Amino acid sequence: MEVSDIELLGRTVLVVGHTGEARHTIARCRAAGARVRLAPRSTESSGERSGRNVSGAQARDQEAHNRWATLIADVDLVIVVGADADHGMLGAACSEARVLLCREPASPVSLIGQVTLVGGGPGDPGLMTTASIAALRAADVVLYDRLVPSERLAELAPGAELIDVGKTPGHHAVPQSGIHSLLVEHALHGRSVVRLKGGDPFVFGRGGEEVAACREAGVPVRVLSGVTSAIAVPAAAGIPVTHRDVSRMFTVVSGHVPLDDVELSHLVGLASTIVVLMGVGTLPHLAAGLRRHGLSDAVPVAIVERGFSSSQRTTITTLGEIVGIASRVRVRSPAVLVIGEVVRWAASADVAAVELIDSAAVLLAEE
Ligand code: SAH
Repeated sequence: MEVSDIELLGRTVLVVGHTGEARHTIARCRAAGARVRLAPRSTESSGERSGRNVSGAQARDQEAHNRWATLIADVDLVIVVGADADHGMLGAACSEARVLLCREPASPVSLIGQVTLVGGGPGDPGLMTTASIAALRAADVVLYDRLVPSERLAELAPGAELIDVGKTPGHHAVPQSGIHSLLVEHALHGRSVVRLKGGDPFVFGRGGEEVAACREAGVPVRVLSGVTSAIAVPAAAGIPVTHRDVSRMFTVVSGHVPLDDVELSHLVGLASTIVVLMGVGTLPHLAAGLRRHGLSDAVPVAIVERGFSSSQRTTITTLGEIVGIASRVRVRSPAVLVIGEVVRWAASADVAAVELIDSAAVLLAEE
């Protein structure tokens, strides 16, 4: 049986193993509401020491057995940490006392820690990868951003100190250089650091800079990809970014800084689906630029706001109408824009939002 399958609230748990290696197990049990006791390191060996002067193996085993029996007398569960730990008489003592015995792998113990950049996905905890969840479970420190699914963070990373480095209204974000220092400092203190980012760490997430900062400081770093909002948020509105015979490529653009004319003309020339992140502020510039470079006013456009939240909203119109309509329905960030024929595949579940844009909805329906 796995420890994660057991209800720990109010239970007394004896953890057997090296304290450093057992730190995640201890943290998880405490977070789940268990009372945790640690077995003294001498439990097995002191039996052996005194046994040497008495009467051989049997007496030593008996003494170790008695020690374990005393230690587990009033516990509900024993967890042995470390795959190769051998506590010979513990198993026998547990089965006699009918106390459940589980094993858990050791937490890594090293002088220098490590940093893991984790993609938290687009906001739905169900879209986090199993690798991300495992990294959070093993974390000592988590530095997280505004757009990550943070409500369940304490549960997902029960042994970790949680540090919010993202922007919230009225609270200034930790500057990028400050994030680099925090990552490096915590890792140099031997901690397992998770840098949790929205979507994928390498899609407009400054993940590359953070990897470079760790490498420069000699801190081991790895990246766990996440589901990017560039694909998942359109999908949440039923829009496929590619579709056979309609679009065989898609371009993901940052709207953080307006595109220049060379970029705009290349973009129009590609005839790909265009997906824009961080594009609400620069939408008027983008729409005007694409039209100026020859993209038709009739091309469908979707704006999907707050994907995967209970207030997700999809607004559908055309390139010619988008600026007026976005301002009329007060489109706000975070939102993903999709420009291209694939927008016609938007799911009917979003009809309420589509109807809001009455003229455009009719226009798209009639074509
Ligand atoms: N690394 C992230 C993107 C970071 S840029 C990723 O791969 O998804 C932040 C932008 O992502 C936002 O401005 C918005 O355009 C988009 N975004 C992220 N999550 C979103 C969501 N749940 N709904 C709508 N847009 C989202």
